[in-house]
This record gives sequence, C-alpha cells and structure tokens, in this order.
Amino acid sequence: MTTHVKRAFKYRFYPTDAQAAELSRTFGCVRKVYNLALAARTEAWTRQERVNYNQTSAMLTAWKKTEELAYLNEVSAVPLQQALRHLQTAFANFFGKRAKYPRFKSRKKSRKSAEYTTSAFRFRDGRLTLAKTAEPLDIVWSRPLPEGASPSTVTVSQDAAGRWYVSLLCEDPSVQPLAPADAAVGVDVGLGHLLTLSTGEKVSNPRHERRDRARLAKAQRRLARKARGDGANRAKARRTVARVYARITDRRRDHLHKLTTRLVRENQTIVIEDLAVRNMVKNGSLARAISDAAWSDFRSMLEYKAQWYGREVIAIDRWFPSSKLCSVCGTLQDKMPLHVREWTCDCGTIHDRDVNAAKNILAVGLTASVCGAGVRPQRSTPGGQSAVKQKTPRREP
Ligand SMILES: [Zn+2]
Repeated sequence: MTTHVKRAFKYRFYPTDAQAAELSRTFGCVRKVYNLALAARTEAWTRQERVNYNQTSAMLTAWKKTEELAYLNEVSAVPLQQALRHLQTAFANFFGKRAKYPRFKSRKKSRKSAEYTTSAFRFRDGRLTLAKTAEPLDIVWSRPLPEGASPSTVTVSQDAAGRWYVSLLCEDPSVQPLAPADAAVGVDVGLGHLLTLSTGEKVSNPRHERRDRARLAKAQRRLARKARGDGANRAKARRTVARVYARITDRRRDHLHKLTTRLVRENQTIVIEDLAVRNMVKNGSLARAISDAAWSDFRSMLEYKAQWYGREVIAIDRWFPSSKLCSVCGTLQDKMPLHVREWTCDCGTIHDRDVNAAKNILAVGLTASVCGAGVRPQRSTPGGQSAVKQKTPRREP
C-alpha cells in the first residue's frame, strides 16, 4: 500500500493563562458560529430548502462584518470554518439516516473543541504553536509521534473536568494491513454483559465500573441537594460529578480499545447489529447514556481499525429477530421475554440467549455479504463509506 493510515495522537497540555483565555474565547466563537449556521439551515429546512456549506461560509463572512458579531474576527478564522464543515458532516449523516438532526451546542454541556488545519498552526522541532497564540503549547508527550510525522489537523479540547487536550492527526507508516484471517464473528449487545460473541465468549464491563457508577450516583445526589444560591459549593459538586464521569469513560474507552483491536486482529469479518442512534430508546438514566456512548465508540473503533488492517465490518438491521430464532434448526419462537436467559428449542438444542443471538447475527451478516440484498447491510470496507472517514480516529493505548 502506498497511502498511509491517518491516526490521531492525543496528549494533555497545560496552557498559560493567556493561551487558556484565547482558547476559551475560540471555543465560544466556534459554538456561536455552529449555532448560527444550524439556525439558518433549520430555518431553510422548514421551508423545504437546503443550505449548503458554501452558503454558510458566505454567511460567516457577512456575520463578521456586523457590529454585533465583530468579535468573531478576534479569533483564528480556521476553527470557525471547520465548525461549518462539522455541521455539514452532521447534516450529511442526518440525510444519510446515520444520525439524528443536529443539535445546538450548549455552553455548559457540549464538548469544547476547536480544530486547526495546517494554515493555522506551526509544528517545528516537536513544538506546536497555534494561530493567535505567541508561545508553543506545553504538551505532555506521553508517547512519541511516528518518525518524521507532521500533523495535518490539530484539535484542541477541554473536558468537563477542566483538563486540556490536543489531538494531532498524522500519517502513521507503522500501521500496515494484516494478513487475511479465516475467522468471522458475530457480536450481540447484551443486558447482563457488555457484549456476547458468537464463539460463546461473554465480554463484561470494565473492572471497577460498578463501584464507579455508585460513586457517580452519590456525587449526583449531592449535586442535586446543593441549593441554587450556593454557587461555590454547587460548582465544586459539579466538578466532582464531571471527574467521576470522566474516569468511567476513560476506563471504558481503554477497555473498548483492547477489545476492538483483538476482534479486528483475530477476524476477517465482524458482524454487528445496526443500533443507530435514531433507534435508541430515549431514557434519562445516566447508566443508559454511558452504555449508548460505549456502543457508538465500540462501533467507530471497530470500523476505523477494520480500515487500517484490511478487515470488514457488516452492520445488519436491528429488526432482525436474532433472539427468537434457533441458530441450529432455524425455527422461530413466538416470544422470548427478556428474563429468559436460557431456552430449549424443539430440535433439542439448549441455547444461551445471547450466544444464540450472536450466532444468528453472524449468519445473517455472512449471507448478506455473499448475496447482497435481504437485510440491507451497511458495509464499511477499506476505502469505503464516507461516514467512517469523517470521524477522527481516536488514540489507541
Ligand atoms: Zn432448533
């Protein structure tokens, strides 16, 4: 292969006061531009018209000339332009039925980030300087960049716990496609376990997660009890919640990285259910929010690693009755209540509910892979599907 895989390398950094102020101002402007453009596109959408990226770009130029929005000129223009591109991607995913309608960014809840392309940063001798900031960032190089790598995109972000990160997108010559494998695996998302594989293996949640979740619930109760007027204590309680939440997601992401790398290394084909965001049940519980986030992380990690290593991920429609079908004789059961964990088919086979479902998912995916039609699978093969490419690959531990 002549082209190399692009990978994101993420590091913590510690901004000076001036850098923190400049970056916070940039995050605010990015959010403002994204929301203005979303409002304009939504307004057009209600008139059954579509506004494209170029039109929003022209709007941005006009906004900058108004007195009210003149402050947009004070930050680097590149992250603002990138915000419009991200919105374009969000709409493409919406029209492609891969995502819900784009939502407004909130000051408190949304991820704070700004993306810089090559014209807006300088990377020299391992020092990274962003546009509109005088000094290079104080980055903790927890692991080296690939030999001779030079980033094409740099993303700065701050998480809810206040930590600053910079992610550098670089070509990585060390990632090479693996030799083809014979194995294929089906993956079922369970209730009791994180995932069940068609091989019979059950993958549980990361260690300590139960305890961390209990801590999170406690921290949230404490936050809820803080009176509205008590600003300092409330802010402190909110930071505690954010810190525990960040630890849960960090551990989970680490766990998912190891798991997806193993699945991709061992299997040529991986079949999953297409649990699209739009199909997910709305549920206020945080446990559920974490599980949903884990699922979309799991899927995107699988897809980009499959691209790296020359593997295939097939997503089958979720209406397929994977739990009710006997994977041995093909008989369909009338019903399969959630509490039934093990059942016996008329053909005499004793099934573990989740393993049977994973086997069915695998069988359907492989059939679809051969005949094409039937289950409307969404494939993501190397070099395929745009939705996958537009996602920024995450760091692998
Ligand atoms: Zn049977």
